[in-house]
Amino acid sequence: MSAPRHLTMIGTGYVGLVSGTCFAELGFKVTCVDVDETKIANLRDNGIIPIYEPGLEEMVKRNVAAGRLHFTTQLSESVPTSDAVFIAVGTPQDEDGSADLQYVKAAARQIAPHLKDYTVIVNKSTVPVGTGKVVEELVRQTNPQANVDVVSNPEFLREGEAVDDFLKPDRVVVGVETPHAAEMMAMLYKPLTDQGVPLHVTNRASSELIKYAANAFLATKITFINELIELCDKVGADVLSVSRGMGMDGRIAPRFLQPGPGYGGSCFPKDTNALAKTARDYGMRLNLVEETIATNQRIKESMADRIVDAMGGNVQGKTVAVLGLAFKANTDDMRDASSLTILPKLQEMGAKVVAYDPAAMPRAKQLMPNLTYAEGIEQTLQGADAAVILTEWADFRTIDLGKLKQTLTTPVLVDLRNLFTAEQAHEAGLQYFPLGRPAE
Ligand code: NAD
Repeated sequence: MSAPRHLTMIGTGYVGLVSGTCFAELGFKVTCVDVDETKIANLRDNGIIPIYEPGLEEMVKRNVAAGRLHFTTQLSESVPTSDAVFIAVGTPQDEDGSADLQYVKAAARQIAPHLKDYTVIVNKSTVPVGTGKVVEELVRQTNPQANVDVVSNPEFLREGEAVDDFLKPDRVVVGVETPHAAEMMAMLYKPLTDQGVPLHVTNRASSELIKYAANAFLATKITFINELIELCDKVGADVLSVSRGMGMDGRIAPRFLQPGPGYGGSCFPKDTNALAKTARDYGMRLNLVEETIATNQRIKESMADRIVDAMGGNVQGKTVAVLGLAFKANTDDMRDASSLTILPKLQEMGAKVVAYDPAAMPRAKQLMPNLTYAEGIEQTLQGADAAVILTEWADFRTIDLGKLKQTLTTPVLVDLRNLFTAEQAHEAGLQYFPLGRPAE
């Protein structure tokens, strides 16, 4: 079998654009395809990338200039000459909690007529167990002559660190049903495995489940420490110290053990729901996962109550200055961000919410048109009755608390990311409300 050279990446979102660009960086010729004509025109004609992702823009430009990275809306331009066609389209949550597979299925049908020689179709989208089989059936129905293998290759990158995560992953997981497909995937990832990245080859169903199991486990880990916040408040413990002490145990590890206002983002909420739904479809209940989902919702809602309590129990007619809207720092992604639960709840209770985020405001304005949006940190704080830190952006870590106090009408700081210490806040003359830490 000859080594793969040309790849098509279908879906030019967070995963598709990052993966396509990184494969180009590794030396492959890559064509990124999307149905969104504006997105493709911006990328192809102006080098404008549609998302905020550190390091990506330069890498896109470099690989376009080197002739390795191309953008189009036409599958016919690249599928016939591709050795591998990746599906990296969205799998949003459907009304019943399951993953909505309409985009994956559409991509499968659209690829089929253009297939020529042996091609691997690689599912990079997060999809429930059994979807690889469905994709294969759709391709064969549409093009019975197609010589294909359908492979599962879930993506584990984190937004904000996506380029590094793709090029230096902890592992690459591939789920295959034939030795031919296994060989092809090994060649695709050879530039990474040559540098010591482990390749975990398994069957398709296991690979599909690994992605959901990993995300549900991490969501549970985050929720575990978040649930301890309130207990720490009650018993006088410091949740950061508890987290550090737990994380030093090699069996536990420190990552994903940072307390915060509930998990959000494009993956954990929908993937935990989809995993729970898959189990229900098979007549069983994943109790831990179901409980994680419910507890996370309770935690997000309790954050609004925390803010109200810090403001004296009543926010009617008061102004809350909110720093950060994205579900975490270094991304403009607003999907299932905690801010979407907390801020409308504050508004319902009569508060005026003025908000600022360094990257997520264009998306936030579409989702929460009734907030007041400020241009920067100082404008957000001006005349407000309390400041709330909701996202851990680096810009917020360096805020001068003395100035913050002077800009506010009432000196209340609710720090839902524990960016500051009680000592720093008190020195600045602020009433300080951290998460799960002694406020004195
Ligand atoms: P996204 O919404 O950012 O991008 C999806 C893109 O696919 C969009 O640009 C859309 O226009 C395009 N698209 C839809 N149908 C198409 C079609 N038929 N042909 C061509 N393009 C089409 O989604 P994302 O965040 O990149 O997620 C993609 C998948 O990867 C999801 O299954 C997600 O769960 C998974 N994933 C996401 C992340 C993450 O951090 N965002 C991490 C790991 C895995």
